[in-house]
Amino acid sequence: MISLFAKQICWLCQSGTPLTYSWNSLSLQQNKANLCHQCSKQLLLLTGPRCSKCSRMLDELDKDYIHGTVCHDCFRWEQQERWKNILHENISFYKYNSFLKNLMARYKYRGDYAIAELFATDIKTTLSKYPIDYIVPIPLSEERLVERGFNQSEAFIKMAKLTPTNLLVRIHSEKQSKKSRKERMDLDNLFQLKEGVDVKDKNIFLIDDIYTTGSTLRYASEILRNAGAYSVSSVTIAR
Ligand SMILES: [Zn+2]
Ligand SMILES: [Zn+2]
Repeated sequence: MISLFAKQICWLCQSGTPLTYSWNSLSLQQNKANLCHQCSKQLLLLTGPRCSKCSRMLDELDKDYIHGTVCHDCFRWEQQERWKNILHENISFYKYNSFLKNLMARYKYRGDYAIAELFATDIKTTLSKYPIDYIVPIPLSEERLVERGFNQSEAFIKMAKLTPTNLLVRIHSEKQSKKSRKERMDLDNLFQLKEGVDVKDKNIFLIDDIYTTGSTLRYASEILRNAGAYSVSSVTIAR
């Protein structure tokens, strides 16, 4: 476990020297000051024009894969009756590159909380811009939770000094979530609403680590929207 007060070494690689304060004031991201230059330059913010639904950088896409303000994937989701307007918007911060992939693996499997703290400001600043009734972590299955010891999405929320509300229960294991897109779309749902929960007219934000196909978030969102939630959006660290 890294001591959060030991700021003379980089939080991530534990060898480089952290950025100086002049770097820090430029980035306005205080937690990033605990990273060395090597690490911080691999953490790539999503920039430029982005899909209004999923935060994908539109500059990376061929023109045929852009439909107005949305990417082709989101366009396809929205064309299906079941998924239309289910997820209002996904906000992601960083590019899901190999650096972030390793970082997330380290966070999930070793419970390295310094990593969650790294994104606390991003999460807190973003969520403070919206009227929100509930901040909901994507739940793990019971089996996975026991194996890992913590829910990484819930920890992100707590590290941002916000309050997670667990409204959902996972009824299909994570292994099933890894099935092909078609197989997943045929599943009834991965989640169900906790008993006795009332989400009518509520504004909800889901929190997860990564947006890949967007199906997990849409399943979660569908449950909440069908139970009367006014709007469901999501924040994910990487896209
Ligand atoms: Zn480093
Ligand atoms: Zn999109």
